[in-house]
Amino acid sequence: MLKFDPFYFQCPNCHAWLEGRVLKSELVNEAKLYSDGKVLYDNYITTRQKMVLCPSCAHTFWVEDTVEPVITTQKPDAYIYSWATWRFYGIRFTDNKGKLALIRHYQSFLRKSHYEPKKEIYLRRLLWWAYNDLNRNYGQIRLKYFLNGSMSFGVWRCNRNMLIEGEKLFQKNRQDYTENLKRLLALLKKHPEERSDLELPEIYRELRQFDKTLELLDGLGRQTHFVSEMMRHAKKKNARVFTVSG
Ligand SMILES: [Zn+2]
Repeated sequence: MLKFDPFYFQCPNCHAWLEGRVLKSELVNEAKLYSDGKVLYDNYITTRQKMVLCPSCAHTFWVEDTVEPVITTQKPDAYIYSWATWRFYGIRFTDNKGKLALIRHYQSFLRKSHYEPKKEIYLRRLLWWAYNDLNRNYGQIRLKYFLNGSMSFGVWRCNRNMLIEGEKLFQKNRQDYTENLKRLLALLKKHPEERSDLELPEIYRELRQFDKTLELLDGLGRQTHFVSEMMRHAKKKNARVFTVSG
């Protein structure tokens, strides 16, 4: 059972009210963690969407500051645009077209304006995750995912076709993905307060600089499940995003 806390905020341009939701924090422990840092709880991303495309007037704005636009937990007495109307810019992820549309949204936000480093890091990190969404869970193409009974044959086959096509699209967009990742790496090096300690080794791994990954992991001086899995993948020269837990 998903548990969300609703909040409400206004578009600074047309003043329409929008409903947002945050996951209750106690559920985050039950989540699925990927090597790129993306966390899902029952397929819901736990990172808040801070860039909003207003469903009423198409104005884009940042919803993090508590002053402008106004954020409240009190339901306003007005028409409210539901979470579904603006969440992920109204995109559905049932096929790769939706995943590509999300990538294009982040690319256009990044092209449209110059952002302070914290915001640029946020957008580039989400763009990175959106590229990885194309072949995230790629291991599920293996027959064992059907045989272990977690999916019916029809669902497994459909999922498998989507992942194989997603992998092709990922490779086709590899240059843009790499450029984004290099820019993110440079920003995170300059702003260590914005990164988790496994983010740089993961970026190097995905950029296929496996020796650099192993060097950074050695320097951490601790051996968690996440660290040993990242080492294992780096030694195998596997650059694809992987599931850490969940
Ligand atoms: Zn608006």
